[in-house]
Amino acid sequence: MRNTSQRKAVLLALGDLHGTHPTASEIYGAIKVRNYQIGLATVYRTLDAMVERGDVAAVRTGNAVRYDLTHHHHHHIVCQNCGKVTDVDASEVPSELLTFFEGETGFDLADATIQLNGICADCTTTR
Ligand SMILES: [Zn+2]
Ligand SMILES: [Zn+2]
Repeated sequence: MRNTSQRKAVLLALGDLHGTHPTASEIYGAIKVRNYQIGLATVYRTLDAMVERGDVAAVRTGNAVRYDLTHHHHHHIVCQNCGKVTDVDASEVPSELLTFFEGETGFDLADATIQLNGICADCTTTR
């Protein structure tokens, strides 16, 4: 497979798995379901390149890296106990946050992608 078709296969798989924040091997599985010939190592390499280009977001949880499309701008909240990833709309992040960091760094900030880590409600109640 050529680079562009590899990227397309990964994008299609991420679309199939939308909302689940799949790992690389889950993406690999979804690509296989579509009968693409691709190796797991290629999936990893393609994902790395797409994260670098900003097409895909990498979300680090306690024990895995999970992936998501970036076409709608959003943030992530990660449970450090069970690894669950929750989406947060970009509009829900106060603009004061950017203003604060502009003051701290002198940057003119366009936007932010935030990952918040903590313990989810399910894990809090079962502990
Ligand atoms: Zn949890
Ligand atoms: Zn997400």
